[in-house]
Amino acid sequence: MAIVFFSRFPLLRRFPVSSPALPYSSSIQLNRRITISASISTAEESTSSSSSLIQHTLSRTRWKPMCLYFTQGKCTKMDDPMHIDKFNHNCSLEFMQNAARLENLRQQEFEYFLVLDLEGKVEILEFPVLLFDAKTLDVVDLFHRFVRPTKMHEERINQYIEGKYGKLGVDRVWHDTAVPFAEVIEQFEVWLSERQLWRNELGVCLNNAAFVTCGNWDLKTKVPQQCSVAGMKLPPYFNEWINLKDVFLNFYKRRAPGMLSMMRELQIPLSGSHHLGIDDSNNIARVIHHMLTDGALLQITAKRNPRSPEKVEFLFKNRII
Ligand SMILES: [Zn+2]
Repeated sequence: MAIVFFSRFPLLRRFPVSSPALPYSSSIQLNRRITISASISTAEESTSSSSSLIQHTLSRTRWKPMCLYFTQGKCTKMDDPMHIDKFNHNCSLEFMQNAARLENLRQQEFEYFLVLDLEGKVEILEFPVLLFDAKTLDVVDLFHRFVRPTKMHEERINQYIEGKYGKLGVDRVWHDTAVPFAEVIEQFEVWLSERQLWRNELGVCLNNAAFVTCGNWDLKTKVPQQCSVAGMKLPPYFNEWINLKDVFLNFYKRRAPGMLSMMRELQIPLSGSHHLGIDDSNNIARVIHHMLTDGALLQITAKRNPRSPEKVEFLFKNRII
């Protein structure tokens, strides 16, 4: 019922959506339009927009780390050219777009994939979600928060963050921005609702979208664990997901037990810092892009049993444990 009712709403095509959580989403869209026109526009259109394209390409030829204040809607330096030169403020996979092969693309069951790659072993420290458009094969938006542990003492948190994020040079931004998990989920639900991907009062499932993770750990184990630590009910939209490793195994008939091995198999160079959640999510999105252009179908691979949620049912017999 929820799905039927949802379908009456205009879908996400009407980007940009104004969002208090992402004040710069309109600039993401501007860059995205330019990128897409580079890959699919006609010859005349290319000529007419060639100068902006060249300028755009030049400014993007070298890799830059994402501004992690920007990803959390908190960058205050968008008009500082030095800052813009140093950090990326655009979530698009534009390097992939130019090389896209479209002849093998399949009709997908979902319009959007929510690429999620949590960080944090004891408690969740980072919650990054990239919104991947299955038609344009690009990341069109993101939700990213650093997460402050609920039950850990301040001193332990400091050691933990120093150990994990210090070496990546992002411990400062973690301390500046991290909020407790319950707050992250509250903000995430606002973000989902604004994009008509989910509505609290209507349904259990996402609307025309599915989470994609690299393995089952994130949604089978870690989110329920963190919900229980934070004294919250598990939100219903976490009850099913696509484990990309299972899709990879059953599509290519090759074993790739992790993100790095999938990237190696597909000859995709690693971008950013491994184990920074936002960069890992971006690399997973690159793997998804490659698999879709090879003709893979991304279906739900794991679902909780509604009667006993601790039991998860899997689509494939052939799985990576
Ligand atoms: Zn910034």
